[in-house]
Amino acid sequence: MCGITAIISKTDVVQTLHESIKNLEYRGYDSCGLGVLNSAGIEVRKNTGGVDEVNEKEHFSGMHGHIGVAHTRWATHGGVTQANAHPHVSFDARFVIAHNGIINNYRELKADMERQGIPFRSETDTEVLVHLIALAYAEFGDVEQAFVAALKRIDGTMAVTMISSMDPDHVYGMKLGSPLVVGLGQGSNFVASDVNAFLPYTKTALILEDGEYVRVSLRDVTV
Ligand code: GLU
Repeated sequence: MCGITAIISKTDVVQTLHESIKNLEYRGYDSCGLGVLNSAGIEVRKNTGGVDEVNEKEHFSGMHGHIGVAHTRWATHGGVTQANAHPHVSFDARFVIAHNGIINNYRELKADMERQGIPFRSETDTEVLVHLIALAYAEFGDVEQAFVAALKRIDGTMAVTMISSMDPDHVYGMKLGSPLVVGLGQGSNFVASDVNAFLPYTKTALILEDGEYVRVSLRDVTV
């Protein structure tokens, strides 16, 4: 398995993101990472190993942001390497995702995008999705529309969380075959693989059904 999280908060999310993947460790994983958005753009720190080990190498506390995603990976496509660890960033540096599951049609999508000159940095199936979102954004100019359009091109089982510098007030999540829940807190909202990711902060959760996506701000949730 693996674990994914996204958090939007009135305060800095780095410590909470770190805790959230620590609380998902029991699910099993080989690598982990955090991605946040701040005034400098998207920053990702990730590596192979356990949460404590990766934190020692990457120093999560040096990151800052009020919105972010995090991931513990169980490799299915591509070796256990830093480049293959999640989160993954789009070629235009505007989108970052954490993904749990498998994208069946990634080979065709990757070949097609490589023909268009999109540079790939990992061997994962996941990376096609974040580039698809960026391509769809270039077409539609709307983050929600781009997220949905890209997901419609994917065949597989997954749970995904995403944030974007083009929509800094929302986290996005989508569930199809892998678990995903929304946590509604005081001053912080969460999207995660399971409630353990946010139990220290809220016991109010919304369970998503397969095929649903969610757009979460500090104030509201749209499914
Ligand atoms: N298929 C993705 C990968 O290999 C995600 C694996 C997972 O669910 O952790 O990177």
